[in-house]
Amino acid sequence: MANKIPRVPVREQDPALRATNFEEVCHGYDLREAMLEASRCLRCKNPRCVAACPVGIAIPDFIAALHAGDLRTAAETIARDSSLPSICGRVCPQETQCEGSCVLGIKGEPVAIGKLERFVGDWKLEQDTAVDAAPRNGRRVAVVGSGPAGLACASDLAKMGYEVKIFEALHKVGGVLVYGIPEFRLPKERIVAREIEEVKKLGVEIETDVIVGRTLTVDSLLDEEGYDAVFIGSGAGLPRFMGIPGENLNGVVSANEFLTRANLMHAYDAEYDTPIYVGSRVVVVGGGNVAMDAVRTARRLGAEATIVYRRSEKELPARAEEVHHAREEGIEFRLLTNPVEVLGDERGWVRGLRCVEMELGEPDASGRRSPVEKPGSEFDIACDVAIMALGTSPNPLIASTTAGLDTTRRGCIAADELGATSREGVFAGGDAVTGAATVILAMGAGRTAARAIDEYVRAKAAKSAE
Ligand SMILES: Cc1cc2nc3c(=O)[nH]c(=O)nc-3n(C[C@H](O)[C@H](O)[C@H](O)COP(=O)(O)OP(=O)(O)OC[C@H]3O[C@@H](n4cnc5c(N)ncnc54)[C@H](O)[C@@H]3O)c2cc1C
Repeated sequence: MANKIPRVPVREQDPALRATNFEEVCHGYDLREAMLEASRCLRCKNPRCVAACPVGIAIPDFIAALHAGDLRTAAETIARDSSLPSICGRVCPQETQCEGSCVLGIKGEPVAIGKLERFVGDWKLEQDTAVDAAPRNGRRVAVVGSGPAGLACASDLAKMGYEVKIFEALHKVGGVLVYGIPEFRLPKERIVAREIEEVKKLGVEIETDVIVGRTLTVDSLLDEEGYDAVFIGSGAGLPRFMGIPGENLNGVVSANEFLTRANLMHAYDAEYDTPIYVGSRVVVVGGGNVAMDAVRTARRLGAEATIVYRRSEKELPARAEEVHHAREEGIEFRLLTNPVEVLGDERGWVRGLRCVEMELGEPDASGRRSPVEKPGSEFDIACDVAIMALGTSPNPLIASTTAGLDTTRRGCIAADELGATSREGVFAGGDAVTGAATVILAMGAGRTAARAIDEYVRAKAAKSAE
């Protein structure tokens, strides 16, 4: 029986070696391994994996095509719902989405859906596929931000015939995929840039180095540049800090800054001049993907590296695979631990963190048990650099420069479930609306908004033709 086959292990770089380089950790499956793993899928009549995928990829269908060795059909099946399979196969939290719903996971190990998606996505990138851009419908949409939300929205609109232009503030395209997630998890030239090329083949135009809210505004795009609608996918790039004493000391940085230096500005590469400092011991505060990326980057730059997280292992929000890889690479985890002060030396540099031990109390609004401080449990951890990975919120620039655009109490752009904002013709999605979330949720929001924009533009055109 197919489900008696154990999950096919994936090949990875040796932990001791990879902790010293920035090459990709996971080598993925080869064709034989992928076909064997694909043979484990039971092709359920009511596939729970599809319902659990935020963009609804026809998972059993693409896996069946892969099992039959028909990679073209497998790739086309995924492409109907996702334009970034090589990326999502690498970074989606599969254990809480598709794989978390796989029936094989009830008594054993789920099908490795993410690794199979990655295999098919990578195969597609190797093919020289010409894409016929859809005939233009004479309508224009501007997209702000080239992260997963903007790319997904732009792809779908281009497929519907819209003339789409993305405006990106940075000099590189891809949002967090290029400035946040490290090379060792998501190769930039081999994967991200090539998957973005596929989006461009659909006819999407991208202009970099344009800060919407400064270089031009949402209002000017609509009122002067003649766009029929605007989609805002500007993410949540503003880091949060703890607000504890000593946080202004030299050597305290946000994970965003640290990772942007390393990824976007190649600080790990001797050929680049970008400065980055880790000293001999780094502590990263936080337990999400951002914290794991920062701590593993610090390790690769030669530091002893530690995670300090106020809840327990079970509540760590990072992908399970990243936590596992971090442990293999020698990262120390100080769980149920919370900093209360950053300690400095006489030069104004960090010398350590004063922490307290925590225990878990009742569940909070997020459903996770709230950490409560253990009285009298203070202790110090020595470090040269403290990296804060405590979450991010949207930059207020766009909201403050767009007339009639409402925001929420948390500073996110207020939008309904279709992405419509309070300003007519302006739609939004991804982290800019939800706050920091995931690549696939951002893509899902971009796709939903694309459909809503299409309806809006058609309705407006019909009205003006009356
Ligand atoms: C370090 C790190 C690791 C992560 N790891 C994972 C992971 O493993 N799995 C996962 O699913 N998710 C992960 N995430 C979260 C995920 O990357 C985000 O949820 C996702 O990228 C959000 O997509 P987005 O398109 O909404 O925004 P972003 O990816 O942030 O893209 C927004 C884009 O808009 C641009 N922009 C902002 N303001 C303007 C402006 N005024 N004008 C023009 N352009 C502008 C920005 O430069 C950026 O390019 C991680 C996040 C980080 C930071």
